[in-house]
Amino acid sequence: MSDGLEGGCACGSVRYRLGSAPMFVHCCHCRDCQRQTGSAFVLNAMIETDRIALLSGDPKPVSVPTESGRPHDIHRCPHCQTALWSDYGRRPQLRFVRVGTLDNPAALSPDVHIFTRSKLPWVTLPKEVPAFEVYYDPQKLWPTASLERRRAILG
Ligand SMILES: [Zn+2]
Ligand SMILES: [Zn+2]
Repeated sequence: MSDGLEGGCACGSVRYRLGSAPMFVHCCHCRDCQRQTGSAFVLNAMIETDRIALLSGDPKPVSVPTESGRPHDIHRCPHCQTALWSDYGRRPQLRFVRVGTLDNPAALSPDVHIFTRSKLPWVTLPKEVPAFEVYYDPQKLWPTASLERRRAILG
């Protein structure tokens, strides 16, 4: 699973490798994510920051306003501005990696769909993946091993 989890920005300056599978993958249909990506949703793989090996380049954080008021920094390639990952809530131990920046974005698929209240009407969700109008309780949805990893970094 950890094989092939390499990715990078559009210009090739930033390259990274994930040291393991992520804890959980969000497909977020909220208005913030739609605006920031210019698309229908974002795909975020949640992983410990220390499991992202930066092979080259130096992504720089850009702060964006949010509906919730919680801080959100998007780390972008300083040259081509591709968004590589996010830090939600200024938690330096945790990153939300943009799955579309993987060399093989099909390697990770959503474990949950969130904020479906603003899902675009033409997006049809698969029945077998949990979906929530707003958010959900990770304790009820995440695998035990992922919850343990989350506890190890967030307490
Ligand atoms: Zn770049
Ligand atoms: Zn969102």
